Amino acid sequence: MASSSAADGSEGASVASAACRDGRRRRVSYFYEPTIGDYYYGQGHPMKPHRIRMAHNLVIHYGLHRLMEISRPFPASATDICRFHSDEYVDFLASVSPATAALASAQAQPAYDSASASASARQLKRFNVGEDCPVFEGLFEFCQSSAGGSIGAAVKINRGDADIAINWAGGLHHAKKCEASGFCYVNDIVLGVLELLKYHRRVLYVDIDIHHGDGVEEAFFTTDRVMTLSFHKYGDFFPGTGHIKDVGFGQGKYYALNVPLNDGMDDESFRGLFRPIIQKVMEVYQPDAVVLQCGADSLAGDRLGCFNLSVKGHADCLRYLRSFNVPLMVLGGGGYTMRNVARCWCYETAVAIGVEPDNKLPYNEYYEYFGPDYNLHIQPRSMDNKNSAKELENIRIMLMDYLSKLEHAPSVPFQARPPDTEAPEEDFEEMEHRRQPKLWTGECYDSDPDDQKPEP
Ligand SMILES: [Zn+2]
Repeated sequence: MASSSAADGSEGASVASAACRDGRRRRVSYFYEPTIGDYYYGQGHPMKPHRIRMAHNLVIHYGLHRLMEISRPFPASATDICRFHSDEYVDFLASVSPATAALASAQAQPAYDSASASASARQLKRFNVGEDCPVFEGLFEFCQSSAGGSIGAAVKINRGDADIAINWAGGLHHAKKCEASGFCYVNDIVLGVLELLKYHRRVLYVDIDIHHGDGVEEAFFTTDRVMTLSFHKYGDFFPGTGHIKDVGFGQGKYYALNVPLNDGMDDESFRGLFRPIIQKVMEVYQPDAVVLQCGADSLAGDRLGCFNLSVKGHADCLRYLRSFNVPLMVLGGGGYTMRNVARCWCYETAVAIGVEPDNKLPYNEYYEYFGPDYNLHIQPRSMDNKNSAKELENIRIMLMDYLSKLEHAPSVPFQARPPDTEAPEEDFEEMEHRRQPKLWTGECYDSDPDDQKPEP
């Protein structure tokens, strides 16, 4: 097939009307690995895969699973992962274990001089694995699930089987070709975008995590087939890249855009930048597919973040992108106050489908996390917005200027298309209330795992 754009026959990129009415439900495909919440980065580590299970639990208890297709991701193989990452790095990820890593770091102490142990220690350092990116039990399987979900989401979109494909275990935007970074090991986003590029001429990547989407930007810095657009806190903040003047290079010049922001971004100022910039991007770039990284560390009250967005303000980015009727992949990312991450990604699942869930949370396995109000939505904090109207206006003007330099919708000759990635889906809609079990052939899945209790 030539293109995936909207299997229902509607045109691809269509700019939203002024009123931004989109009027119809979308076919949503949602990827969820039931063991994802069991992975554990270690005591005190802010990254908790458990938040994905919490979000999923809310999705189920709101009954959203009845309004979309749910698939268990097919684990990405080492070969799939090597489409972006180096062989040596992937070999390392596939073979390292907490025991070998601990041995290597212990033996790297001066008292030891075993050649093989110091070689392992050098590897840990070379691949930036250690503190921020620890070696934990099942690390590679975790990466395979995260990447498998994003590749599977891309395959759904390529086949025209979904308008929107969601993978909350994805969005790990800091991972580099040859090294881990910022809690990310395998860049599922780059892998998903590479899959989309088999069928789509131009892919737009939008990143609303509070951190700069450096790994994705770097991967596509010199091409016009992917435009990256990152909104992030800039200035004395990880990873330190994403200056407004970093715009891509060579063929990719002006196809990597950055919106550097200060503490305290609120719904109104975020929307005032996001909407006009996106509208212009859609108009001039005309992507055939869009990938939105929904890092939830840009929410108010995040453990690591310093923005002040409500769940509604965060989700407005998805709502707006959705209104363009371009195939959309929606991914997770950062987010370190678990209860708010779960709220946010549950609400965004509903927005993707096109329904408005009740603010009162349904009773669920993790209900005690959501007190004292037990509501879906969160209130912004009372904090200063350190982004002045003048600064925001200057950023907007600068971005508009870059976008005016672009030739409209660069046409890229299609190369011979690489073979499709094998991603057999094992649909299990109705996960919890399985009235008609589908192709799920593995062991019985219980969506009420009893393994992890909330933090005290
Ligand atoms: Zn982040």
